[in-house]
Amino acid sequence: MDLRILKEKVKEAVDPVRLLEHIGATNVNIKNDVVRCACPIHKGRKQNFSFDIQKGIFSCFSRHCGEEVGLPRDVFLLVMLVKNMNFPQSVEYLAKFSGIDSNVEYTKQDDDEYKIKQWLRTQKKLDGDDIPSLDESILNMFSREYPPYLLNRYSDTSILNLFEVRYATSGHFANRIIVPIRDEDGRLVGLSGRLATDNKFELRRKHKYLHTANFSSGAVLYGLNHAKTFIERDGIMVLSEGFFDVMSSFQKGICNICATMGATILPEQINLVIKHTSTVYLAYDGDIAGRKGAWKIYKRLKDYCDVFFLDIPKGEDVDSLDVETYWDLYLSPMKAYEFEKKYHKEIISKN
Ligand SMILES: [Zn+2]
Repeated sequence: MDLRILKEKVKEAVDPVRLLEHIGATNVNIKNDVVRCACPIHKGRKQNFSFDIQKGIFSCFSRHCGEEVGLPRDVFLLVMLVKNMNFPQSVEYLAKFSGIDSNVEYTKQDDDEYKIKQWLRTQKKLDGDDIPSLDESILNMFSREYPPYLLNRYSDTSILNLFEVRYATSGHFANRIIVPIRDEDGRLVGLSGRLATDNKFELRRKHKYLHTANFSSGAVLYGLNHAKTFIERDGIMVLSEGFFDVMSSFQKGICNICATMGATILPEQINLVIKHTSTVYLAYDGDIAGRKGAWKIYKRLKDYCDVFFLDIPKGEDVDSLDVETYWDLYLSPMKAYEFEKKYHKEIISKN
């Protein structure tokens, strides 16, 4: 059956009251052919939602759910938003719900899916609390002379200057590379100190990283203040694990990159991602932790953005890749199903 014909049949058959209760609406009552209930889309508590049975149109009075999608606010859009489905899926869902045989061949409606994703992104844009900023003069406490450890990795120090990297010779951060953390507007919100060594014994004995006390990495995407113009230009945000991934990517000419500062993503960071882009490339380390982390991040972002993977070879990371390989990977990102197929074992492994 043709999808559009099925849609008309389903529209006739759906009982909106039963449907609303089925998808979790509470406080349901009917008056003059209008159903009132709590909004099942934004999961409201008050009776802020109505469904006009004659017109077949819903309205959410408190958050105007669905108004920005640009599709009719009918039962299909309702199911798409509550169940996170695309249009054909919503028709199938409602056909099944109404007991209609739904043997239908359909092509994917990318357009609808795109609109839904966009709407979900606008819903997600919450105003987070401002993070307290640090006094800029704190940076003067640290040296601009870099230890051999850093100079061996970055013979060209211009990138270290751009990211204002310093070195602590004494005090709380002694023998650490100091990385100032700025929020997307460039406010200094924290400092992170990485031990200036790769000696495993040293790294285990002391912490590899030390942060300033007020700094919670979950509220910031490292490098976004520098990357945001490039993200806007390219329409793509590359997400990586650490500071040095960001710095070396800039050096290799990939400047639309930020770091989650760990192989995970937190709610505030998700807000930052979807505020700036609808397309994300994940560039996490080519080891089990990196691939597991990337997969988890993908699952958190996929409802808001199109997410792809850079196929970082085993044992490598963005920092260690040579320029040609990095650009090859960047220009041919993997789709999620390809990544899942290739790294299934890593993704499901327990350690
Ligand atoms: Zn609502």
